Amino acid sequence: MGWDELEATVSACTACSLCQSRTQTVFGVGSRTAPWMIVGEAPGAEEDARGEPFVGQAGRLLDNMLASIGRSRQVDASHPIYIANVLKCRPPGNRNPQPEEVVACEPFLLRQIELVRPRLVLVMGRFAAQSVLHTDAPISALRGRLHRLRFAAGEVPAIVTYHPAYLLRNLADKAKAWADLCLALDLEEGAAREA
Ligand code: SF4
Repeated sequence: MGWDELEATVSACTACSLCQSRTQTVFGVGSRTAPWMIVGEAPGAEEDARGEPFVGQAGRLLDNMLASIGRSRQVDASHPIYIANVLKCRPPGNRNPQPEEVVACEPFLLRQIELVRPRLVLVMGRFAAQSVLHTDAPISALRGRLHRLRFAAGEVPAIVTYHPAYLLRNLADKAKAWADLCLALDLEEGAAREA
């Protein structure tokens, strides 16, 4: 499935009950050939209203974090990023996604990752990390090291970090998030030197 078909399929999707309460699907944003991809959990109220992931206060924090390392969700940026969530529809009341919703929706995200073919995936938040890495380990055990997302066509390196919405409530952990970004940059530089 190419980009156009994938986007149309998501926008018409009724594979789980979240289709009944969404305003619209939230597909993804940014450059579809970006070297980095960010994966979050699910749309919140503002994302559901605007149709874009990571907007509002958490989105502004994310944009500031990205700007601090010279990255941007703008498609024409010199170091662009593509951003998508595990779930494309908002869980009502921002409740946690249910396992059957993840099972229904995750193939869309995996296809997005396959199409972007990023050099690195930054997975934000406990839920997204546990979903894409198929683990129930806490985020403290997943941060600070390299993971690999495996596909039929190969694998993509992944780093786990905190969700910006969490960082807004836990300012002390911003330093750890900065360390995660530095780790991602180091990995990319190391891979470039080896290439
Ligand atoms: Fe379809 Fe995903 Fe939305 Fe469920 S959350 S209706 S699987 S697009």
